[in-house]
Amino acid sequence: MKQWQCSICKYIHKGENPPEKCPVCNADASKFVEINKAPTLEKPVKKESPAIKPGPDESEKKEVLKPAPAIKETGLKKIESLLVKHHAHPVLVHTPNGILPAAVILLLLAWIFDYALLSKVAFINLIFVILSLPFVILTGIIEWKKKYNGALTLIFKLKILAATVTSVSCVISLVWFLIDPKILSSPKALIFIFINIIMLIAAGIAGHIGGKLVFKD
Ligand SMILES: [Zn+2]
Repeated sequence: MKQWQCSICKYIHKGENPPEKCPVCNADASKFVEINKAPTLEKPVKKESPAIKPGPDESEKKEVLKPAPAIKETGLKKIESLLVKHHAHPVLVHTPNGILPAAVILLLLAWIFDYALLSKVAFINLIFVILSLPFVILTGIIEWKKKYNGALTLIFKLKILAATVTSVSCVISLVWFLIDPKILSSPKALIFIFINIIMLIAAGIAGHIGGKLVFKD
């Protein structure tokens, strides 16, 4: 059976033809390249030198050809490659994604039970979220550019939108709470809670898409 790899997210599809759309990143069929295909250029070489075993020889040749004289990366580029190599974005993203649900639950409890202390705890949690977001977004952009060539298929557009909604609603919540620390006891509490729920959903969507890209399922 033929194997096709998505050139954007590296998803592998088995079948006679590439899928219409990549189930992971939504790229269309033209972005799929057949893999494990005997390279046509090497066929004449095989004929000329029948003494050499064809199988391992081919793969050896591929390996010799592959590491094209690596352009020496310097400074910033090297840091960017290291960040991608060591999965900085998926690692860092657990900070806001771990704290956010707790902060929103605390806010809900503070609102339901009219318990001011809980809203302060939620506020402090949200500060940790906002502090981590610049690092998460920066490493996300680096990974997107390096690993996915800055592809703008639907999945990446959604991810960017979800990250933006998360960041904006987090800033709104923090600023609003700073201006009016008693917001949860005011009639506008519902709007405030709504913004926080939107933030949680957006963070969940961004995380879900991230997981899909990492695990390809
Ligand atoms: Zn893909």
